[in-house]
Amino acid sequence: MSATAEKIDFRDKISTVDKAGKRVWVYPKKPKGKFTNWRTLVYVILLLILFTGPFLRIGEQPLLMLNIVERKFIIFGQIFWPQDFYLFGLATLAGAVFIVLFTVVYGRVFCGWICPQTIFMEGVFRPIEYWIEGDWTAQKKLDKQEWNREKIMKKGFKHFIFFLISFLIANIFLAYIIGSEALLEIVTTPPAAHLGGFVSMLIFTGVFYYVFAFFREQVCTTVCPYGRLQGVLLDRQTVVVAYDYKRGENRGKIRKNEDRAAADKGDCVDCRLCVSVCPTGIDIRNGTQLECINCTACIDACDSIMENVGLPKGLIRYDSEANIAEGKKGFRWTARSMAYTAVLVLITSLLTGLLLFRSNVDATILRTPGMMYQEQEGGAVSNLYNIKIINKTNEPMQLSLRTEDGKGQVQIVGKDILELPEQGVAEGAMFILLKKNELTGISQNLSIGIYNGDQLLKTVETKFIGPAI
Ligand code: SF4
Ligand code: SF4
Repeated sequence: MSATAEKIDFRDKISTVDKAGKRVWVYPKKPKGKFTNWRTLVYVILLLILFTGPFLRIGEQPLLMLNIVERKFIIFGQIFWPQDFYLFGLATLAGAVFIVLFTVVYGRVFCGWICPQTIFMEGVFRPIEYWIEGDWTAQKKLDKQEWNREKIMKKGFKHFIFFLISFLIANIFLAYIIGSEALLEIVTTPPAAHLGGFVSMLIFTGVFYYVFAFFREQVCTTVCPYGRLQGVLLDRQTVVVAYDYKRGENRGKIRKNEDRAAADKGDCVDCRLCVSVCPTGIDIRNGTQLECINCTACIDACDSIMENVGLPKGLIRYDSEANIAEGKKGFRWTARSMAYTAVLVLITSLLTGLLLFRSNVDATILRTPGMMYQEQEGGAVSNLYNIKIINKTNEPMQLSLRTEDGKGQVQIVGKDILELPEQGVAEGAMFILLKKNELTGISQNLSIGIYNGDQLLKTVETKFIGPAI
């Protein structure tokens, strides 16, 4: 293979699979530097939020619970019912547009800083591996050596800890689904009493353990659909972790007292430290690649080298291809990013409005099927209705109903007040009675107000049928 072909053959394969199609295990060197410190801080904060989330309470409700099985969703202490599903749809849409917009403008910042896969892999499992097996060279040596006492102890201890953490993560994820109380019950009672919950916990644990102990960066490079989308989302203005090839090339080893400019050498001293620290095993000097999760480890690595050799930092940095090609710096808006921003603002405003003005009750008032109007004594006309009201709050309510235009009378069958338990449903029947002089036709619309004491909670439109006038 010629030197040029060798240089560009990275496009034909992924760095973690060899020519025979076998996995190439990545041993990334432990990163250190400014970005690594910032990332660690962000990971710690996000992990704290994740692990305490199911146990934090707003009022009596958990901060977040997504019980898909029972179709009960609690977000920031607010209970959402299947009837609010359109809000979830909208929130998902807003989230998707948000991620797309961010990718167009800022590249894969999400992958490096917020994605749970990166946070657990680089923020939890990898540091434990460094702690038990040492840095990359020690890990390589350990993997190559015979199975002796040291290897069995280190590997055994590492996988035991990995399994324990996977079990903990599985418990936390389960707590987000079934709630912390239900989880505590499962944990504190024998497995046989909650066989379904116990088995799902073991399955979750097994999946997490396999992903973080063995599958690792393959999630980002071969499975994650977001990674596959990079090719269509990034453009020349997108800010990514980029190597400044204008400044770096021609790369060449540093020699004592050498005038690099005179030797036609750029600032890259070809130390390959940026490759050594990369958790997906790529060489960022080949340009943006879909395996790059924007973790910034190579920025820190290169900055430390630049500092050592007395050259300016930032040979690898957050920047766009356009800036690097044109030798410019600074952020630029494109028509695409402006359009995405407009859509995002619109969807977010709509979502905020719907959340703010979401009613505390959901109600349906429907005429009882197959029933016509009834003529009452005294000349009034009545219609019978079925009512169903859902309480989305944690407070019980005592509801009364009345017509909003003040005409006629509403009579709940068998009671004056409809008792509505917290997070509960009340069902019943009611009559609406209109005097003959209040009828406007065979069919007329009525607005029914649902009141908790004097507070109007919701207005429901319904039809009233009467005789021809
Ligand atoms: S190229 Fe750099 S930013 Fe991208 S994954 Fe590798 S180390 Fe992280
Ligand atoms: S760390 Fe910097 S100097 Fe070293 S090979 Fe990478 S880009 Fe070149």
